[in-house]
Amino acid sequence: MSKHVFILTGAGISAESGLGTFRDKHGEGIWARFDPMELATPQAFARDPKRVLAFYDARRRNLLEAKPNAAHVALARLERELAGRGGELTLVTQNIDDLHERAGSKRVLHMHGELLKARCQNCDAVPVWPGDLTVEDACPACESAGALRPDVVWFGEMPLHLDDIDRALRDADLFVAIGTSGAVYPAAGFVAEARAYGVPTCEINLEAADNAYCFDEARYGPASETVPAWVEEKLAS
Ligand code: NAD
Repeated sequence: MSKHVFILTGAGISAESGLGTFRDKHGEGIWARFDPMELATPQAFARDPKRVLAFYDARRRNLLEAKPNAAHVALARLERELAGRGGELTLVTQNIDDLHERAGSKRVLHMHGELLKARCQNCDAVPVWPGDLTVEDACPACESAGALRPDVVWFGEMPLHLDDIDRALRDADLFVAIGTSGAVYPAAGFVAEARAYGVPTCEINLEAADNAYCFDEARYGPASETVPAWVEEKLAS
């Protein structure tokens, strides 16, 4: 049984919780309906902050109605049981939702930030922000008004926790990517990095990702079924 499992999750793990994915092969992702350059870049926010904030307000309201599914619950169980056997799970997510935490995962690295937090562009405070965010809101830490933005990593910005991620990839003895299209870098490159470190790799996805050829093993199907089955198998091995 692997002792140090590295898991990368993407929007596909939250799809059955009712949160839309960004891309799929049938052109139905969120970015097929909205233009990312108009909504998820620092330039878009500078140009039209009200429009960008309204987009994230809608995503936040949607998230507050969503619930974790069996795949999130299975990964929380894997973390607990690995710890009980002297092992470790590094869970890195591209998702900005909090469904891993609500399912019971204790340590989650959100490389693209968190929807339920805001970030102050004046003092770098990151207050918890479950409600709508307006251009008039004041930062609870420095009290400056109009400096808060969603704590999400936009296109063209540097993802978070990259040093911790690189360290965990080196230490891993199994790399698994779940529900991610393999189209957004640097996350899409983690599988190649893991392979370069000699770590076996597995893809769990609805359908083959863009980088499917990089994986040693693949399991296809809805995450709420494939992930609990895979966890059960790992814990029994
Ligand atoms: P993506 O939208 O590009 O790809 C989704 C992947 O999930 C696809 O490979 C698709 O086949 C698969 N999928 C769809 N339904 C599934 C299911 N039921 N079970 C298993 N797999 C399923 O997602 P990504 O690779 O994470 O894209 C990158 C960007 O999307 C990230 O920057 C992330 O921040 C953002 N995003 C996050 C959320 C969220 O927080 N829930 C939602 C949408 C997009």
